[in-house]
Amino acid sequence: MIEFIFTLDYEIYGDGSGTLRELVYEPTEQLRTIFRKWNAQFVAFIEVAELEKIEAHETDEAIPLVKKQIQDLCRDNHEIALHLHPQWCNARRQHDKWVLDYGEYNLCILPRRRISEIVDRSLQYLRKIVGQPEFIPLSFRAGNWLFQPTGTAASVLAEKGIQIDSSVFKGGLQHNHTLDYRRASRNGYYWKFSSDVNLPDPRGPWMEVPIYTEMVPFWRMPTTKRMGFARGFGIHGQGFRQKLNSGRDLLRFSYPMKLDFCRMNLRELTAIMNRVIQNDRQDPSSYKPIVAIGHTKDLTDPRTVDNFLAFLRTNGITISTFAIIYSKLLNEMSQAPCITGGCETQSNLVPVLKG
Ligand SMILES: [Zn+2]
Repeated sequence: MIEFIFTLDYEIYGDGSGTLRELVYEPTEQLRTIFRKWNAQFVAFIEVAELEKIEAHETDEAIPLVKKQIQDLCRDNHEIALHLHPQWCNARRQHDKWVLDYGEYNLCILPRRRISEIVDRSLQYLRKIVGQPEFIPLSFRAGNWLFQPTGTAASVLAEKGIQIDSSVFKGGLQHNHTLDYRRASRNGYYWKFSSDVNLPDPRGPWMEVPIYTEMVPFWRMPTTKRMGFARGFGIHGQGFRQKLNSGRDLLRFSYPMKLDFCRMNLRELTAIMNRVIQNDRQDPSSYKPIVAIGHTKDLTDPRTVDNFLAFLRTNGITISTFAIIYSKLLNEMSQAPCITGGCETQSNLVPVLKG
């Protein structure tokens, strides 16, 4: 059984450039209209740190619109989730531009106290926006997908009540940030974990529902549609070491291609889903939450999203959110045969669930 989850990273460019109206507000309004038409919901990963700074420094006239839009998303039953690019937390203005603190680029390498400060502050701001003093998002996605080393950040976020992570993309590798999700490739469609997001641990407090990827040869990575999005990723002005590391990332036979509903064209999206549907026919009993990613800043072709939703509907695939499927995930896990008797963390060889 397949359920499809659209996740939307709600943010401007990673270096602080771009306007909220163009990169966040307007594309999200387009998506809201499309999803309303299909009576469907998505998960909005709100990058809270940048919104807080932008509001404090009054640098973007669209901040009230964006705050109102998040309330509207909440009211329309879209899931409000936490996304964090911590380089914004110490951001300052210089010559009318943002200077971000790249020393804090990866939340996971910061001291526990600092992680806790950042998360508390972000949750407080998010609660103010949604107007619910007790609001706790169910789900989290790390900035630049960096949820390694997992232990400390996961334990802080779990203390605050967050229960699902969706940062992993199987096969992912970034030498510059020591991100390595290759070990997760053997895992199922979702798994519990504790101190290492790559390693299933049935007793862990956290659940990973990764972004769906396919490993593809390098020549399948760029398409005309995707080529338009060269900017906004990575850190500008990389030094020699970082360039070397980026080069090492490219020296692979195959790459993880994320299921991206803002970057892929309809043919690519439906081709992946046709393969998922075929797998499901061969193995209909296993539950398969398929997570797609999109970025507000990348949405240039809303018609593709509309047509893709039509494709999913025609194929009888339910569109859901983490909040809706969470109890089902827990239930499926409690019923799944524990092939290794709960010793996956020791053997690391047998996936918790088939996938
Ligand atoms: Zn992001």
